[in-house]
Amino acid sequence: MKARPGDAPWGNDRRGLAAKLARLGIRTHADLAFHLPLRYEDETALTAPERAPPGTPVLVQARVRRAEVALRPRRQLVVHAEGLVLRFLNFYPGQLRAFRRAADEGLLVRAYGEVRGGFFGAEMVHPRWRLVRADEPLAATLTPVYPTTAGLAQGVLRKLVAQALAEAAPEETLPAPLRQRYRLWGIGEALRLLHQPPPEADRAALAARTHPAWQRVKFDELLAQQLSMRIAYRARLTRRAPALGGDGPLLRRFLATLPFRLTRAQRRAIAEILADLGQPHPMQRLLQGDVGSGKTIVAAVACLAAVDAGWQAAVMAPTEILAEQHRRKFAEWLAPLGVRIAALHGEQSAAERRAALAALENGEPVIAIGTHALIEARARFARLALAVVDEQHRFGVRQRLALRRKGERASEALLPHQLMMSATPIPRTLAMTYYADVDVSVIDELPPGRRPVATRLVAASRRGEVLARIRAACAAGEQAYWVCPVIEHSREGDLQTALETHARLAAELKELRVALVHGRMPAAEKQAVMAAFAAGRIQLLVATTVIEVGVDVPAATLMVIEHAERFGLAQLHQLRGRIGRGGRDGVCILLYAAPLSAAARERLRIVYESHDGFEIAQRDLALRGPGEYLGERQSGLPLLRFADLVADEPLARAAREAAEALLDADPEAAARHVERWLGTRGELARA
Ligand code: ADP
Ligand code: MG
Repeated sequence: MKARPGDAPWGNDRRGLAAKLARLGIRTHADLAFHLPLRYEDETALTAPERAPPGTPVLVQARVRRAEVALRPRRQLVVHAEGLVLRFLNFYPGQLRAFRRAADEGLLVRAYGEVRGGFFGAEMVHPRWRLVRADEPLAATLTPVYPTTAGLAQGVLRKLVAQALAEAAPEETLPAPLRQRYRLWGIGEALRLLHQPPPEADRAALAARTHPAWQRVKFDELLAQQLSMRIAYRARLTRRAPALGGDGPLLRRFLATLPFRLTRAQRRAIAEILADLGQPHPMQRLLQGDVGSGKTIVAAVACLAAVDAGWQAAVMAPTEILAEQHRRKFAEWLAPLGVRIAALHGEQSAAERRAALAALENGEPVIAIGTHALIEARARFARLALAVVDEQHRFGVRQRLALRRKGERASEALLPHQLMMSATPIPRTLAMTYYADVDVSVIDELPPGRRPVATRLVAASRRGEVLARIRAACAAGEQAYWVCPVIEHSREGDLQTALETHARLAAELKELRVALVHGRMPAAEKQAVMAAFAAGRIQLLVATTVIEVGVDVPAATLMVIEHAERFGLAQLHQLRGRIGRGGRDGVCILLYAAPLSAAARERLRIVYESHDGFEIAQRDLALRGPGEYLGERQSGLPLLRFADLVADEPLARAAREAAEALLDADPEAAARHVERWLGTRGELARA
């Protein structure tokens, strides 16, 4: 019977070969075929020892003359061959015998490794070697070197792969027209070339993974990812959601009495969202806009559409401070219209909480605002039509899902609409992959009157000047933040530093009203401090990064970030976005401790040079790679093994286009392709 790609050829010896292969993620013939070489060794041609280029491993061959054990400079086996000396510091007695016999019989030694000039001429130390007769043929293809694991020799892996290719090569999953359209190699042809490249293959292209064979494999991988997400996208359109008209009385009154004129970008986002909410299918939309671009009011409009239609909305924020700020904003905007806000947070009184929970459970048309408290079991929404997740990247997939589940009503098979908001701009390349299963609205314009924040890089040794600057600003009626350094892997350390920094600054700036806010404070206390700062009663706010997301105090103009070199790029950009909101010029001082590492210097230079969140994100991506954005845990997306979203952007683009076309033309082929690449993980992608 012919072997099939899905078979596992090595039986079930869990502790032996099968276990080792499993450690490499190999369970079937097909997995073997897709276990691709890291690099190649060239044993297809011989190099004369005296002509071997320095530092490059080559295959040489020479007649063995004699072999002996030398004792100086240390004990070693020395093999003298014609024009070549081989040295082995570790050797077996059998090795000495073998070389001696080879010398007697006139055999050749064929050795692979680097050749160096030594006392006796060309020398190799510990080469890979084999004894051959003169007529033994050379390898016909380059020799693949595979990623492997302890106890699994390259030779074994090579044999298994070759066998898998010969007996159970993976079948083609892409229809011919699609292959032609993107000029893709057949999968069998591509895999054969990658495992067994002929000597004339373009080695530079193989090493750079730009060879058409690599392109085909990477395309397949990207396509599988796109397909799984587009399948999820299409599946959602078969689900039902409450259709919310975008033209109710509350909405109309609110839009007529807005506290400011919406920007063009805000109006466009609102139109896109209301159009989705009007559909009887669940919206899944990301609202992306730089810090301060005005996403909150867009969310408020969306929530009003739900209330107008007699449904409930929920707004979930990652921190108590932010949830409280939303609660105040929503109350300020919507309470005059008679809309009820139900706040849920960690530290409210039992009576308040009971009232809020009861409103949700009774199906009253309220807007629930809170932190993770919204997804706790006791929060039961009777009529949730819209789930808004602010700063969505701060939540895990499960939490975002959990909020949406709150509105799932099994009896009517209804799902709520979902609006995710993020100020962390995802670089365009990643957005294409990361958001292939959602729709995206972008606010690419700041409200009028914003001035760019001037950024200064100041060495920590000039702290005195910075204090003088704070005094001057506060004397002029302005307010300032002092952001404490992050202590890596230690929340205790963060807290300790914040307490010390606060004590020190309060002593140094006796004439100012200095306060502290940090993540471990009780919510009520945090709220009191933030409210006092917002009201101008506090002049200098010492803070940990709890203020990083969302906090909006327009009168704050100055921000000092201590040990700025320890912060990530996105974090610095977010922090800086807290100031310069009130029409006065903002200044952000990045205090750094010299000497800076090269990486830290580069990060600070980028924040110094750029104010554009998208550009910063793009450069962050180039510096750190996509892992930071696309961690499997955070996104629910399987990470890519072969393709690189930065280097392979054109391929990702093609895969995205191809995914749509394939789903339309041949859904079965699409399903087969996803199955090949993701197996059951495809379903995990996202819901
Ligand atoms: P973000 O997008 O970072 O969440 P916010 O929604 O907090 O931004 O808005 C930042 C500030 O700008 C808030 O004080 C908000 O009231 C104000 N704002 C939003 N839109 C406008 C606008 N069109 N004109 C003037 N101010 C605006
Ligand atoms: Mg915000």
